[in-house]
Amino acid sequence: MARRKKIYEGKAKIIYEGPEPGTIVQYFKDDATAFNAEKKDVIEGKGVLNNRLSEFFMMGLNNVGVPTHFLKRLNMREQLCRSCEIIPLEIIVRNYAAGSMSKRLGIEEGTQLPRPIVEYCYKDDKLGDPLVSEEHIAAFGWASQHDMDDIVALALRVNDFMSGIMFGVGIKLIDFKIEIGRVYDGDFQRLVVADEISPDSCRLWDIETGEKLDKDVFRRDLGNLADAYTEVARRLGVMPKQAPQPTKPTLIN
Ligand code: UDP
Repeated sequence: MARRKKIYEGKAKIIYEGPEPGTIVQYFKDDATAFNAEKKDVIEGKGVLNNRLSEFFMMGLNNVGVPTHFLKRLNMREQLCRSCEIIPLEIIVRNYAAGSMSKRLGIEEGTQLPRPIVEYCYKDDKLGDPLVSEEHIAAFGWASQHDMDDIVALALRVNDFMSGIMFGVGIKLIDFKIEIGRVYDGDFQRLVVADEISPDSCRLWDIETGEKLDKDVFRRDLGNLADAYTEVARRLGVMPKQAPQPTKPTLIN
């Protein structure tokens, strides 16, 4: 069998050509990186968990009418997606201050923001993904004003969906990052949520205890990352069934 073609290898995923034109396969690795890949490790099982969790969020979004690139999960580590042209921006939505925003503005982590705030970073590892404004985006032609209106609307819909899902399982969605892709249907282009949505790209805090259940566990050496992601998957009911199935009760008559 011919080996499929690798299109791109990133820090946490490998992208392969898909089986049909216009499709790609995303392979989720166990690699974890932080601080622009200065800190690295392999966390056994992370790829499997993120594949499942991203499937769960993307399918949920598709089901409520928020378009995504996700088509179907293929196996433990791979999913089939529509190929799209990624807009070179990280779209960050924040509900509570944390991470770089807390540092930049001197706001204590966990402070609720007056309303969700959308930020943009230019995707460039060499530059450390710098924060940019809509002015930069328009002037350098990364996205049009019309695209930006659609991007903000998509980002806020993802925020409402994700916040609600998480609240339902006792988790506060502090912030998250998404990427947006362009899909071409004939002469028309539309924007879809692309890449992944997982605890690698969100900040998730337990509502009761404030315990962190996201990549900060790895960034800040707070414990076992796979355990934190497993807890998120367990609460959402998306854990692959590992426990042995109970045997049928014996009927006594
Ligand atoms: N984020 C991400 N990839 C990045 C940068 C940020 O997924 O390259 C996510 C991060 O996990 C958090 C949110 O975006 O949920 C905001 O991150 P922040 O700007 O606070 O950056 P950090 O403090 O992680 O450097």
